[in-house]
Amino acid sequence: MPGYELFGAEERKEVNDVLETGILMRYGFDGARQGIWKAKELEHELCKTFGAAHAQLLSSGTAALTTAMAALGIGAGDEIIMPTFTFVASFEAVLSVGAIPVMVDVDDTLTLSPAAVEAAITSKTKAVMPVHMCGSMSQMDELQAICATHHLLLLEDACQAIGATYKGKCLGTIGDAGTFSFDFVKIITCAEGGAVLTNNKDTYKKCEEYSDHGHDHLGKDRGADLHPYLGYNYRISELHAAVGLAQVRKLKGFLEQQLHNHSIIYNALKDIEGVTFRRIPDPKGDTGSFLSFFLPTEEMARTAATKMATVGIGGNAYWYDNNWHYIRKWQHLQSGSWMNRLHDDQKQQVMHYTNQAFPVSDAIMSRCISSSISLLWDDAQARERGDKIAEVLKKVIAGHAVVNA
Ligand SMILES: *Cc1c(COP(=O)(O)O)cnc(C)c1O
Repeated sequence: MPGYELFGAEERKEVNDVLETGILMRYGFDGARQGIWKAKELEHELCKTFGAAHAQLLSSGTAALTTAMAALGIGAGDEIIMPTFTFVASFEAVLSVGAIPVMVDVDDTLTLSPAAVEAAITSKTKAVMPVHMCGSMSQMDELQAICATHHLLLLEDACQAIGATYKGKCLGTIGDAGTFSFDFVKIITCAEGGAVLTNNKDTYKKCEEYSDHGHDHLGKDRGADLHPYLGYNYRISELHAAVGLAQVRKLKGFLEQQLHNHSIIYNALKDIEGVTFRRIPDPKGDTGSFLSFFLPTEEMARTAATKMATVGIGGNAYWYDNNWHYIRKWQHLQSGSWMNRLHDDQKQQVMHYTNQAFPVSDAIMSRCISSSISLLWDDAQARERGDKIAEVLKKVIAGHAVVNA
C-alpha cells in the first residue's frame, strides 16, 4: 500500500529544488523562488493523472475533507450520511464544520450500502459521503442515482484509494468533490498532505480561499488580497508538495507492482473452503492495496488474525477490534467526549445517531480480515506469505469445524 516503501532519489531531487531557493511556502515570493512552484506543479499533475478539472492541495486528508465540506456549503445542522467503517478523520471533518455524521451500514463491498443510505435520508440530509476503503470502491452508480433523486451532494472520501477507478473514472472525480490523503501510510505520500479534486470551478475556488485564511489570490501582493470569505490555514508546504510530486509520477509503477503482488496472495487463498472475498463493484478499478476476505464466523476471523500475528505474518488488519476504523470502538464519539463544548443540539444529534446498533455492519466486519500488500515483495516472498496465510486459515477453519461437529 504505502508509497513510503519506495522513497528515493526522485523525492530527494524535488525536495532539494526547494531547499536550493529556501522558499518553503507555496504562495508569494515570486522573484526569490526562481520559478520553483512545487505545490502548483503537483496540483497540475493531479489534474492530469486523475482526470479532474481542478485540484487544491491541503495540509492533510482531514483538512481536505473539512475544506471540501466548507466549499460545498455543508454546515450547522446538516446531516452527512457516511459509513460505519472508515477512519475517524471522516467524522472529525463533519464535526469540524458543525454538521452531523449519520452513520449507516456497510455491505460486503466494505463501503456504504446504498439501501442503508436511502433509508437514512431525512429533510436535513445534505450530502452522502462514501469512503472508498482499503484501496477499492463504493457502488457509485447506485449512490449517484440516490443523490440525484434526493438532490444531495456526493462527496467522495478517496483518501485510501488514490489511483482506483470506477467504470473508467478515477475515484475522487465522480462526485461533487473528492479527497485524497498523502499521509505517510497512503498509496502515495507527501509525509503529510491531502487534496480536494473537483470539476466545479466555484467549489475549487472556495477550497483555494478557505485553506488560506480566505485570500482571493488575485494579486501579487498577499497583503492586498481581498477576503471574500472567512477561512483557515490548511496550506501544504513546498517541501511536502515536492515529495508528492515525485511520488505521483511513480504511482503507475506502484499500482502495477501492488496488483501483481495482490494476485499472488489471492491465488494462494482463493480455493480455501470457507473463505470468501470482498465484493468489488468494478474489479478492474481496484488498487490492490489490500486483499480483504471473510471467514465463516467472528470467532474464526479473530482466531485467524491472532494466529497470523503470533506466527509472524504481519500486516493483517482485523478491523472489528481496531479502535480507529470501525464504529464499535469509537466510544469518544458515542459518549460525546469533546474538549470544547459543542452546541447542545449538535451534541444530542451526534450521540443519537452514533449510539444505534449496527447488526448488519457487525455481521460483515466481525468476519473480515484485510491483508495489506507490500510493494517490496518479490514473487518468492509473496508466494511464501500467501502459503503461510493459507496454512493458518485452513487450520482455523478445520479446527472450528471439528469443534462444531
Ligand atoms: C487517512 C485517511 C483520512 C485522513 O487523512 P490524513 O491525511 O491522515 O488526515 C481520511 N479518510 C480516510 C478514509 C483515511 O484513510
